[in-house]
Amino acid sequence: MRCLLLGMIALGMLFFACVWEARAQALPYERPVETAPSQDAIGGGYAVPDVQKPPPRRQWLQVLDLILLALALAASVWIVISKRSRRWAQALTVACLAYFGFYREGCICPVGSIQNVALALVEPRYSIPIVVTLSFFLPLVVALFYGRAFCGGVCALGAIQELVVWKPVTVPRRLDAALGLLKYAYLGLAIWVAVRPALAREFLICRFDPFVSFFRLDGFLHMMLIGAGFLVVGMFVGRPYCRYLCPYGGLLNWCTRLARRGVTITPDKELDCGLCTEACPYGAIEKMRAVRRDCLYCARCYASCPRQQAATELVSISNVGGPR
Ligand code: SF4
Ligand code: SF4
Repeated sequence: MRCLLLGMIALGMLFFACVWEARAQALPYERPVETAPSQDAIGGGYAVPDVQKPPPRRQWLQVLDLILLALALAASVWIVISKRSRRWAQALTVACLAYFGFYREGCICPVGSIQNVALALVEPRYSIPIVVTLSFFLPLVVALFYGRAFCGGVCALGAIQELVVWKPVTVPRRLDAALGLLKYAYLGLAIWVAVRPALAREFLICRFDPFVSFFRLDGFLHMMLIGAGFLVVGMFVGRPYCRYLCPYGGLLNWCTRLARRGVTITPDKELDCGLCTEACPYGAIEKMRAVRRDCLYCARCYASCPRQQAATELVSISNVGGPR
């Protein structure tokens, strides 16, 4: 019954995305602003400079990105839920950071697409490519069933922070919970500013993305300093942007509450030794159980679990033909 409900919600999200896209595409294009004065009208030998536009990414490459996103999400679920391997999770993190982060320069980005989707909802003349709409919904649909697989190394913003965690401290519960509310305030503010009239509109999430200037090896100095600040803090406080500011993390958090599957720290029965709680840098283990809405799919707790290690050793012994 629950699966049916989740399936219906997921299908509803995808159906809504397609219908909305079709509706927006059907509207005739109207130029929203006055054209600038022409070269002749200005006179005095003025020459309009050449407009430099980056060519749009080819359609099939956009579809390829979407397919790669779907495959990475499937890999994240498989690695964390079935394979239960920290090492493979790290490999996925590095691969996704290399492709979605440095090669694709922070695009494709469901985090920033919140603003596009919100604007498309209130402004029928604002059209977004179906690939962007689907990339927004896909991680949310996966979260409805399996938890935050997107945060487990697929998201470039999360991946770059994941790799710098060094000596994480435990943030006191109350402070952690209070700081966690910031992301909802940021989500509300970002949507409000994104749907304002054109001249007052701003895409805050993209403008203040702390890591995109690293991915593009270009950007404002102040944003690079902010990004570097997040990474330095992230060495001691696990993934600060993810836990306290990411607006998409807030949406994933909600979707994950419906999920039936997610990280279960031991492969079979619990030992309740507490080693996993110390290993989790994100404060996502309460009473020695992973809290699905906060779990960032890093698989560190498996690596610290004696029962998981025993199970892994058993598998490797049986793979080489049993104990000698
Ligand atoms: S919380 Fe946000 S930034 Fe962090 S991994 Fe998840 S979606 Fe990406
Ligand atoms: S419970 Fe913590 S350590 Fe385990 S996978 Fe989730 S975030 Fe990582």
